[in-house]
Amino acid sequence: MATFKEFRNKIKPNWCPGCGDFSVQAAIQRAAANVGLEPDNLAVVSGIGCSGRISGYINAYGLHGVHGRALPIAQGVKMANKDLTVIASGGDGDGFAIGMGHTIHAIRRNIDVTYIVMDNQIYGLTKGQTSPRSDVGFKTKSTPNGSVESALNVMEMALTAGATFVAQSFSSDLKELTSLIEQGINHKGFSLINVFSPCVTFNKVNTYDWFKQNITKLSDVEEYDASNRMTAMQTLMQHNGLVTGLIYQNSQQPSYQELLDGYSVQPLAVQDLALDEEKFNKM
Ligand code: SF4
Ligand code: MG
Repeated sequence: MATFKEFRNKIKPNWCPGCGDFSVQAAIQRAAANVGLEPDNLAVVSGIGCSGRISGYINAYGLHGVHGRALPIAQGVKMANKDLTVIASGGDGDGFAIGMGHTIHAIRRNIDVTYIVMDNQIYGLTKGQTSPRSDVGFKTKSTPNGSVESALNVMEMALTAGATFVAQSFSSDLKELTSLIEQGINHKGFSLINVFSPCVTFNKVNTYDWFKQNITKLSDVEEYDASNRMTAMQTLMQHNGLVTGLIYQNSQQPSYQELLDGYSVQPLAVQDLALDEEKFNKM
């Protein structure tokens, strides 16, 4: 069985010292080993951005795609070879700006791909512009007087779009992040894992210390129930999205692959969900 070291290659990442993306790379390698994969069972597909380089830094099949298009490529890889474990990865600009249409449709399609977003609330590769995840008032070269746009709450968006696995973590918390990636890989449908991954060079607001002061870990929330979609939404709203851990999982929903393969799984009926809390929670 492969160890996490066998998922390393000889290429030295050219990320800035201290960049959060190093830990995400390490967590993917550990999770891949922990779930029993071999390098030739895994494909890592990435978009464009500092974080998009990650597909070149892991000893597995890799494809560095074009901006915002990691998910269409990753879904194509999965459709072509359903036995591969497919991880898509990229940054917040990549997945939640130009790639947002793909993100929403991959979520509702529930295809068996694990999407790991390295969210640093800024465009790092292009030297620091405001992203869809930047807070109101955030000053960069593109918003010198402070951003007037609201930051997108991606975890709430994912729940609304029908996600069956929604998780968030912090690159400093390697243990939690590795565990969530393992759970995401083992989840039979689409899993979205958003990772607070600080850009130490251009984002001087959302720093490691800032996250440590502002994050609530769901493992510290008494009796948090990740199978309850309504609780997940309420908890996100209460904490302005700044929670880490497994936020929501529905293991009952068949994956896209299962439905296409003609397995004996029937699609769930989706009716009157907005008015029926019991049905909403079971979805
Ligand atoms: Fe990481 Fe920011 Fe440096 Fe890019 S610019 S490698 S996101 S620290
Ligand atoms: Mg970014």
